[in-house]
Amino acid sequence: MKTFPLRIGTPDGLLFEGEVERVFCRTIMGDLEILAGHCNFCTALGMGRAFVVLPDGGKREAACIGGMLSVMGGACSLLATTWEWKEDIDEKRAGEAKKRAEKLLAQGGLTDQEFKLAEAKLKRALVRLGVKN
Ligand code: ATP
Repeated sequence: MKTFPLRIGTPDGLLFEGEVERVFCRTIMGDLEILAGHCNFCTALGMGRAFVVLPDGGKREAACIGGMLSVMGGACSLLATTWEWKEDIDEKRAGEAKKRAEKLLAQGGLTDQEFKLAEAKLKRALVRLGVKN
């Protein structure tokens, strides 16, 4: 299968650079999969499971939380707010973050901003746990 160059970065630095067969991620408009030969394109990323398929068919999964993806001249660049490879996700930490967020949301009495922050924390935890399981 044809490959194309992909770079994945976060504000902390470059996390991946190489040829891939496919990259899959969640955008603000839904799930997206980029293959070789994709037209020039740019979109904002949502929160969700992501993966890349390497030229040898190996698949690397990750949690992707926000950012931008662009394709220019056949090369794909994914700049994520947070990108965690499956093997780097701390499941216990995500489980505790989920419990804390659920507790906050259940107890009520939150301001709009506190509610949104707790909801976003819960979503991030659920994405991480979803990638792990
Ligand atoms: P927590 O309450 O556990 O900090 P959070 O969703 O508020 O969770 P973030 O603000 O999204 O955390 O992330 C802060 C930093 O910690 C980022 O660098 C992120 O990659 C890392 N991080 C957060 N949760 C995990 C996890 N469960 N496993 C690995 N890295 C994590």
